[in-house]
Amino acid sequence: MATNSIVVDLRSDTVTKPCQAMKDAMSSASVGDDVYGEDPTVNRLQTEVALLLGKESSLFVPSGTMANLIAAMVHCNKRSAEMLCGDLSHVFKREGGISHLVGVQVSALKNCSDGTFKLDDFEKHIRGADIQEPITMMVSIENTHSYCGGKVLPLQWIENLAQVSRKHGVAVHMDGARLFNASEYLREDPARLVRDCDSVSFCFSKGLGAPVGSILAGTRRFIDQARRFRKMLGGGMRQAGVIAAAALVSLEQSVPSLDADHRRAQYLAKEIQKLKLPICTVDTINQHTNIVHVNISDKTNITSEKIVDRLYTVSQSETNGDCKTSEGLCIVVRGSAKPDSKTLRFVLHHDINDADLKLAVKKVCFVLTEMDKNK
Ligand SMILES: *Cc1c(COP(=O)(O)O)cnc(C)c1O
Repeated sequence: MATNSIVVDLRSDTVTKPCQAMKDAMSSASVGDDVYGEDPTVNRLQTEVALLLGKESSLFVPSGTMANLIAAMVHCNKRSAEMLCGDLSHVFKREGGISHLVGVQVSALKNCSDGTFKLDDFEKHIRGADIQEPITMMVSIENTHSYCGGKVLPLQWIENLAQVSRKHGVAVHMDGARLFNASEYLREDPARLVRDCDSVSFCFSKGLGAPVGSILAGTRRFIDQARRFRKMLGGGMRQAGVIAAAALVSLEQSVPSLDADHRRAQYLAKEIQKLKLPICTVDTINQHTNIVHVNISDKTNITSEKIVDRLYTVSQSETNGDCKTSEGLCIVVRGSAKPDSKTLRFVLHHDINDADLKLAVKKVCFVLTEMDKNK
């Protein structure tokens, strides 16, 4: 990478670096051995989060993947258990551990584009009455839904899903990696969003900008078992107050700025849509949160990988010097080719300010227009 350039990294909200307030809190955190339950900062975080989510208890874990894994271990406490989830969900596409380590059969329902799945389809898939079948013990829903472009699940749908689940004794888990983005969009308390769920996880290390950590919340009984499983998985941490301190700051300082990420995502989506290029579209009406999906037309052989690559390597001279900062620095934009070859993804986060975004938009529009011309 040339030194006369700045990078606007829009691959994911996981790339954020801890802010100064987080580093200060980390360096002065009171700590103890958390495996003995003696870290005051971890304990404070767990108490605060349980309150925030309206749950009895919560547990600090190293990652969202481990939170979901532990949820499956607790809810699916019988042999031949099955977990249902959407076919575009993170637990299905990116978390093999639930099958590999927990021994639970993971079955997918077809996701709708809004992150939900059909509830009659869900009810039809609940099994266990016949001895030849696995026993459906858990359903996992995702809010916001990452691979559906950061969509927020409708509250009524969650309520209806929980009703069906209760009828069949199926536990409801919410993978709320970006729960606060959903809460910001709906302007509802996070506790309201998870009211009908037996357990919920969220990440401090995504849009909230903390360096490490996720939470798992539920009943006291659920969390007592979860603590045992966390230790079994190697997730028992010692003076974890050092990272819990950053998580506490993220709740205080990052949550209020999520609306700015959403506003910037709207701006980016609209600027791309304004180009009216035949090669791509953006659904600006259903642009809920901080993830922007650019859908690439099936009629061209342009892929998101090609665009990501071009965005990363296009030089200043190729843009006729158009895409540079006032200091003459070249802008490098990083996007992502997830979830597939026909979807280009950009994720806004708190390390991107309005000036960064303006520069990135220029470059993205330049590359998309060029791709359209040469298609
Ligand atoms: C990132 C993410 C996870 C996993 O979290 P990690 O901390 O990366 O393990 C789970 N679910 C969703 C929806 C995510 O976006």
